[in-house]
Amino acid sequence: MSHRIATIPGDGIGPEVVDATLPLFETAADARGVDVEFVRYDWGSQRYLEEGTMMPDDALDHLEDSDAILLGAVGHPEVPDHVTLHGLLLPIRKGFNQQVCERPAILFDGVESPLRGYEGGDIDFTVFRENTEGEYADIGGREHVGFDHEVAVQSAVFTRAGTEAILRAAFEAAEEREGHLTSITKSNAQAYSMVFWDDVVDDVSADYPDVEVESLLVDAASMDFIRRPETFDVVVASNLFGDILTDIGAIVTGSMGLAPSGNINVEGEYPSMFEPVHGSAPDIVGRGVANPLATVLSGAMLFEDVGETAVSEALWAAVRDLLADEGAPRTPDLGGDSTTLAVVEALETRL
Ligand code: ATP
Ligand code: MG
Repeated sequence: MSHRIATIPGDGIGPEVVDATLPLFETAADARGVDVEFVRYDWGSQRYLEEGTMMPDDALDHLEDSDAILLGAVGHPEVPDHVTLHGLLLPIRKGFNQQVCERPAILFDGVESPLRGYEGGDIDFTVFRENTEGEYADIGGREHVGFDHEVAVQSAVFTRAGTEAILRAAFEAAEEREGHLTSITKSNAQAYSMVFWDDVVDDVSADYPDVEVESLLVDAASMDFIRRPETFDVVVASNLFGDILTDIGAIVTGSMGLAPSGNINVEGEYPSMFEPVHGSAPDIVGRGVANPLATVLSGAMLFEDVGETAVSEALWAAVRDLLADEGAPRTPDLGGDSTTLAVVEALETRL
């Protein structure tokens, strides 16, 4: 079966890591009799600087027939963050109803955690972040009230349908993993949204009797991601809390350059989008030393999503094997001095 994968390399190190890894995905797929076609879209900040928009008005029509989307990164020092967010990322996530963002946090063998005493295999959890509403609902305003009184309001929106969707996805993942779910809340301070969240957790948990649920305030969770990361299995959080916690998850497992993610359309009516958690990393762009592994693992999640489990497993295994091999090339973020391409070549031989 052939899969059409839309690729948006994007900005900064995005094109470096995407261009380097596409041949690898072809090799991995080929070797397992899977046919893939990559269709490239040169959207992003360069386009914005030249034409005034990150992507064309009919962008979603172009992407809609794909089986999945692979995104590098968007972000540019001369383009405000809200432009990259509202000009590309959010329209795709919201337009394709990608309600669930999944971000695994795994400390691989051979990778050093900044946390003392932690070794490969000690940390292995996954975060489910609500992806289309919550604190990022984009509702609010700014006004001058009277002579010198200025006020800004930013509203958060939690729908029952959206909250249930993220929770069900997380409960289902927990059923397949260790059966433990941590729900991130802040119901002691947010009496509407987070008390509602807790209520929906209670309701949905009735359908998953085998999953043990722990409720944790987001401030406590921020400590515990550092103090006891080995105890987490599946973590579920609102958009903002998930955003913050997944950066902690990425860094305690060794490097931003290793963390993959998926923006999942649960019903399957639209394509899902996979991307490294890291951004465009303007500080290292153009040097050829960006770590491609977050993109490789995002590809592994993508192949799983389109039903090609063997390809997915081969990619995960190749990354694990590479990292566990002391003599294998690694990029500077992992303490090595190898290039993006050297790492990709070392993976290629393993596939
Ligand atoms: P953006 O605004 O696009 O999010 P950023 O400035 O926040 O960009 P990130 O990409 O989020 O930068 O990266 C944060 C830090 O992690 C940077 O110092 C960057 O060099 C490093 N980093 C991120 N991705 C990688 C990677 N793939 N390989 C090596 N280092 C990386
Ligand atoms: Mg960033």
